[in-house]
Amino acid sequence: HNTAPASTRYGPPLLVSRLYQPSNLRDVGQDSRLPGDMTCKSQRLMQQAGLIHPSNPGCYYYLPATVRSMEKLVRVIDQEMQGIGGQKMDMPSLCSADLWKTSERWDLMGKELFRLKDRHGGDYCLGPTHEEAVTTLVAHQATLSYRQLPLLLYQITRKFRDEPKPKFGLLRGREFYMKDMYSFDVSEEAAYQTYESVCQAYTRLFSRLGLRCVQVQADTGNIGGKLSHEFQLPADIGEDRLLVCGNCSFSANVETMSSDGTDCPQCETGTLVESKGIEVGHTFYLGKKYSQLFNATFSNAQNKPSVAEMGCFGLGVTRILAAAIEVMSTEEGIRWPGLLAPYQVCVLPPKKGSKVDEVALLADDLVHTLGEALPRLRGEVVLDDRTQMTIGKRLKDANRLGYPYVIVVGQGALEDTPRFELHDRTITDGNRS
Ligand code: ATP
Ligand code: MG
Ligand code: MG
Ligand code: MG
Repeated sequence: HNTAPASTRYGPPLLVSRLYQPSNLRDVGQDSRLPGDMTCKSQRLMQQAGLIHPSNPGCYYYLPATVRSMEKLVRVIDQEMQGIGGQKMDMPSLCSADLWKTSERWDLMGKELFRLKDRHGGDYCLGPTHEEAVTTLVAHQATLSYRQLPLLLYQITRKFRDEPKPKFGLLRGREFYMKDMYSFDVSEEAAYQTYESVCQAYTRLFSRLGLRCVQVQADTGNIGGKLSHEFQLPADIGEDRLLVCGNCSFSANVETMSSDGTDCPQCETGTLVESKGIEVGHTFYLGKKYSQLFNATFSNAQNKPSVAEMGCFGLGVTRILAAAIEVMSTEEGIRWPGLLAPYQVCVLPPKKGSKVDEVALLADDLVHTLGEALPRLRGEVVLDDRTQMTIGKRLKDANRLGYPYVIVVGQGALEDTPRFELHDRTITDGNRS
C-alpha cells in the first residue's frame, strides 16, 4: 500500500549483473584440467560459482558471496560460544619465537610452522594455534580470582600452517580461518564440565547447520593433553579413518587404536565399521601442560596461587563451509545449510522483449515486498536482471549457486490472484553422502 517506488523505500535491489562472482570456469567440464589443484567437488563448485579464486598453493581469494556466508557462520559460532560463556578476543598472528621455544613447539612443529625474522633478527612465526599466546596473557594477570573462573576466551582468526599437501580448496589451506577457544578452570572436575559444555555446543552448532556430525575419540597430537575428541563429517574424500561400533556408542579415530581387530573395545560384542571423515572440530583437555609452563595461576578460595586447568577447542571455519558444500551438494550445483546460504532468494523476471515490462516491474517490487513482509529476508533477495538471457539459462546459474529459494515471475503474476513459480531447494534430509 506504500505508493512510493520500491527503490526509494529500501534502496536499489541487489542485481545479479552487479554481483562480483567471477566464474571463468563456467564451461569447463569436471574432468578437464583446471587452474590450481582442483581435486574435489566443493572446490570445483566453489570456483565455478565464483565463490573462491586460487592465488598461491593453499591460499584463496574469498570472494563476496563466500564472505557473506562466512559472516553468517561466524554469527552462529558466536551465539554458541557466547551461550556457554565464551568471550571473544583477537590475538596477534605474528608470534614471538620465545613463547614457542618455552613450550618446545618451536622445534616440534617442524616445517609446518611459517617462520620469519623481523628487522632486528628476532625470530617469529605466523600463529598456527594460540595455546602459548593465551596462556602467557592469562599468566600476566596478577589478580585473577577463582570467582572469575571458568574463563573462556576465543577468537576467530586466520591461522597459518605450511601443510605438506594443501589440497581440496578450503578444506586444507595453508592460510585458513579457525575458531580457537581456550578455557581456564579451578579444578580437574570443573575443567571436565567445561569440556563437556563445549562438546555440547559443538553438537548444537552442527545440528543447527543441518550437518550430520560424528564425535570420535581422538589423538592429542602435538597440542598435548589428556583427553580429546574430533568432530567429523562423514565423507568419502575425508582424510581421517573412523571406527564406529554398530552396537554401542563407541567411535574413534583409527589413530587412537593399537590393534587391527574389528571387535569393539567398549561393549566387546559389537563390530567396528570403518568410514572416512572430514575433521571439522577438535577438543582437547590439556590439564596443566601449558599453565604450569607459563605460570598461569589464579588465587584460590584460601587466597593462595593455584595453577589453572586448561582446555582448548578448535573449529575449522573455512573448512566447515567447504565441507558442508562437499557433503550437501549435487555435482551440478551447491546446496547450502540454510543458515549459511549467501543469499536466501533469487527472483527471476522474464526474458527481455517478450512484452512483459509490467511483469519485470512486478519482479522488482516482489524483492521489496518480500523484505517488507519477512524482515529476515531483508538484504537476502537478489534480482537476476540479466534479462537478455533465457529463464532456463538463469535457472541453471541459480541452481549452481544454490539459492535456497528461486522465484520465477511470469505472466501468471499479472492475474487477479498473482501466481509465481517457486523453486524450493532447501535441504531437509541432511548430508547427501
Ligand atoms: P588435520 O588433521 O586435518 O590436519 P589438525 O588436526 O591438524 O587438522 P587442529 O590442530 O586440530 O587441526 O585444528 C583445529 C581445526 O582447524 C581442525 O579440526 C580443522 O577443522 C581446522 N584445520 C586444521 N588444519 C586446517 C587447514 N590446513 N585448513 C583448513 N582448516 C584446518
Ligand atoms: Mg594438521
Ligand atoms: Mg587431525
Ligand atoms: Mg585435530
